[in-house]
Amino acid sequence: MKFLFTRLLALALGLLLVSPATAAEKIKALILDGQNNHNWKATSPMLQKILKESGLFTVEVVTSPAKGGDIAQFKPNFKDFHVVISNYNGQDWSKETQKDLVEFVSHGGGFVSVHAADNAFPGWAEYNEIIGVGGWGGRNEKSGPYIRLKDGKFVNDMSKGNGGSHGRQHQFKVVTRNTEHPITKGLPPEWLHNTDELYDRLRGPAKNLTVLATAFADKSTGGSGEHEPMLMALDFGKGRSFHTTLGHAEPAMKCVGFAVTLVRGCEWAATGKVTHTELPKDFPTTDKVSIRE
Ligand code: ZN
Repeated sequence: MKFLFTRLLALALGLLLVSPATAAEKIKALILDGQNNHNWKATSPMLQKILKESGLFTVEVVTSPAKGGDIAQFKPNFKDFHVVISNYNGQDWSKETQKDLVEFVSHGGGFVSVHAADNAFPGWAEYNEIIGVGGWGGRNEKSGPYIRLKDGKFVNDMSKGNGGSHGRQHQFKVVTRNTEHPITKGLPPEWLHNTDELYDRLRGPAKNLTVLATAFADKSTGGSGEHEPMLMALDFGKGRSFHTTLGHAEPAMKCVGFAVTLVRGCEWAATGKVTHTELPKDFPTTDKVSIRE
């Protein structure tokens, strides 16, 4: 009996050792870029820096052929990583690469969509389930609902209309809407984000989706007049997906709030947990942005 117990204990410890959450093994993160209507050449290194400085991740970048190039050559080995972070908004990938990503996430891999990555692939059903909601590219009521905050609850709104718009870039408050989820637990009720595009009217399948934080898209800055989802968490098969609509350009990515939520979101997508729960002292407050150069 004692022998059996020792064997079970050894087995349990062995399982723990292969978990990416242990200190011995960092989380393997892969950033995808190469095509984007945004300056990915400037922002991918910023994403890489944020993840590396957290001490939690090793980071590799795979860059697709340029627009018009042979996209069939774009075949990242998703399975070699724990989390795939997309900074890509461009040509459709080959059917094989699409299938590889769907298998990766459905079998338990993590996916993170940053800003315009949610503009990509309007016609790829599984991708839209992974990101939950997206914008532009002909998205409309056929793509799925808008997510609307009504009487304190998030509801699906099937009104007709295009998916995706934004007003003028400005600093805006990000409001924490879920205080229990590992990604947003312990964040202040609201914090001032540095200059960014506030994406509004996104729409999509919105299945298995939890809104973690919103921002008010004020009509005075050209917005929808709604509390728009900014940070979202989703399940897809056995995998997890974190969607941040933030991160248009360098000023947005210098925001400490962007960095902290990105690190938390990537760790959660990879492992289902967040271990870096202590908020940095320079986290933005309700009326003061905080940036790191
Ligand atoms: Zn943008």
